[in-house]
Amino acid sequence: MRYPDEFDVIVVGGGHAGTEACLAAARMGARTLLLTHTIETVGAMSCNPAIGGIGKGHLVREIDALGGAMAHAADRGGIQFRTLNSRKGPAVRATRAQADRARYRAAIRHIVENQPGLAVFQQAVDDLLVDGGRVAGVRTQTGIEFRARAVVLTAGTFLAGRIHVGLENHEGGRMGDPPSNRLAARLRELPFNVGRLKTGTPPRLDGRSIDFAALQEQAGDTPCPVFSFLGHVDEHPRQVSCWITHTNATTHAIIREGLDRSPMYTGVIEGVGPRYCPSVEDKIVRFADKERHQIFLEPEGLDTHEFYPNGISTSLPFDVQLLLVRSIQGLERCHLTRPGYAIEYDFFDPRDLHPTLETKHLGGLWFAGQINGTTGYEEAAAQGLLAGLNAAAAALGREGWWPRRDQAYIGVMVDDLVTCGTREPYRMFTSRAEHRLHLREDNADLRLSAIGRRLGLVDDARWVAFEAKREAIEREGQRLRDCWVRPAELPAGAAEAVLGAPLARETRAFELLRRPEVDYAALTTLVGSAGVAPAVAEQVEIQAKYAGYIERAQFDIARTQRFEDAALPTGLDYRNVRGLSAEVCEKLNRVQPATVGQAGRIPGVTPAAISLLLVHLRRAE
Ligand code: FAD
Repeated sequence: MRYPDEFDVIVVGGGHAGTEACLAAARMGARTLLLTHTIETVGAMSCNPAIGGIGKGHLVREIDALGGAMAHAADRGGIQFRTLNSRKGPAVRATRAQADRARYRAAIRHIVENQPGLAVFQQAVDDLLVDGGRVAGVRTQTGIEFRARAVVLTAGTFLAGRIHVGLENHEGGRMGDPPSNRLAARLRELPFNVGRLKTGTPPRLDGRSIDFAALQEQAGDTPCPVFSFLGHVDEHPRQVSCWITHTNATTHAIIREGLDRSPMYTGVIEGVGPRYCPSVEDKIVRFADKERHQIFLEPEGLDTHEFYPNGISTSLPFDVQLLLVRSIQGLERCHLTRPGYAIEYDFFDPRDLHPTLETKHLGGLWFAGQINGTTGYEEAAAQGLLAGLNAAAAALGREGWWPRRDQAYIGVMVDDLVTCGTREPYRMFTSRAEHRLHLREDNADLRLSAIGRRLGLVDDARWVAFEAKREAIEREGQRLRDCWVRPAELPAGAAEAVLGAPLARETRAFELLRRPEVDYAALTTLVGSAGVAPAVAEQVEIQAKYAGYIERAQFDIARTQRFEDAALPTGLDYRNVRGLSAEVCEKLNRVQPATVGQAGRIPGVTPAAISLLLVHLRRAE
């Protein structure tokens, strides 16, 4: 049967990539359909109940600045908030929210169901419809055909998914969900480069059987951080603590004895796992000299007793899982509610994607999320937003967009993926960004919201709030630049209290704020308060304190920009560029970089090769 309504964009998969993709497409005005296995699992967190963290929190803020859902859902579902690296510089500070799994999912579902222009349909997609070499829609499990100009595929860990617990294994998309085998087989017939990756999750614990008295408590931060630029602390549900414990020598011995029944160490699992989120057996083998590993016991929600033991992801047999958990302090009598497991799944070489995330081999088809070789909800959501906006732009005949590396962590991630590909699950870190000082969580809106507005992603409410904030920052910065602080006019002891020493001569307030020991709140005791919001005060302070670094960073960005933006023609055969080695030609032909900047980041493409490329471009002009 052919479904009677036509769509501009169809998004397959209601995970983190899929929900941001369909929301972005609909916000841009595209008639959008979300097709997913089960409406109940829209926004489901397959693994740890947490959003954000270092690098990942930056992505969440960027998604939010572009009008996305993830930060809102984290604010509505977050049961413990912390600012990581709070004592370090603003560039590496990151927000992390422990989420109530059910509340987070409900928040995402609410946003999806209330988005104008977005329809949802529950059914597995088994096939792609291809017309004249372009994707023209999808066919579901029961044969319903949905047509659209653009299709975004976000099937996560489901493509040919195989679940492992010890040497037992079975097909599955994640525990309790079916795999997408027909779609995986269909995609393998198409000219995509397919590989296998693996990820894992720990067993879950019944909180009623945990001895909390034996554990170290970790409360959230006060004042409580907020994720969304439009969010408010009043949106947060009741806040709770996490708990800390450790593995020990007995745990490690139990794990070592179980390795002969580990699917990872007996060669049953072929897929490569995430380096930065290793299983507990991996940690024991790789870091054999470490006496203990930290475990965070994280509540799964306010209405459940389940706990997520962060740090002991495992695919060892269940009997070994039970023993290893019960060897840990505080967990001696613990009941396990679910076994840990590993999952292997198909992913596609992201070098086969344009930076818009459209596939190079099949026009009209976009890939986003775990299927591009990444791991993590935030990485998936950021790609989903990018793919969704570009799919909508293509369907509506508008210009697409992707951020540069100096504009956003989203830009860093996409450039890394499409330029270098990945051999192991890719996750975001602040160290991946060369322009870290500029790409902060706190200024994601200043970097991206105006672009989002132009693209049609940012609604009126967000825009009005953003403009008010931008103007307030400007006004307050100017007030402090214009304001002279004169020693003679200060009450006795006031300067010493703020500066730690008397003020020698009259100085502009903005200059005082540059001093490391002076914070904004203290400065207002000398110059009065303008009653600005904390986020405005934070920006003014960062702009004052880091002005020198920021200027230098802007200079570096401008310098690299010239090359970065020089476009390379699509379909250019690099064998026609004089002087390039066969190896470099092959690499450039493989990646087909969009710009000279991207070409320069392909491993093995030398500065000399870039010079030859620039000569070629000049000749062609
Ligand atoms: P998913 O969240 O997997 O969503 C895919 C969606 O597509 C689902 O709704 C599914 O029902 C739907 N779907 C699939 N195929 C079809 C089809 N044919 N038709 C219709 N709908 C379809 N991340 C970490 O950062 N750290 C970890 O430690 C970690 N461990 C993990 C452990 C396990 C066992 C699993 C399963 C995942 C783990 N992850 C981890 C990864 C994290 O869950 C993913 O990165 C994230 O969920 C990816 O989002 P996504 O939107 O790409 O896919």
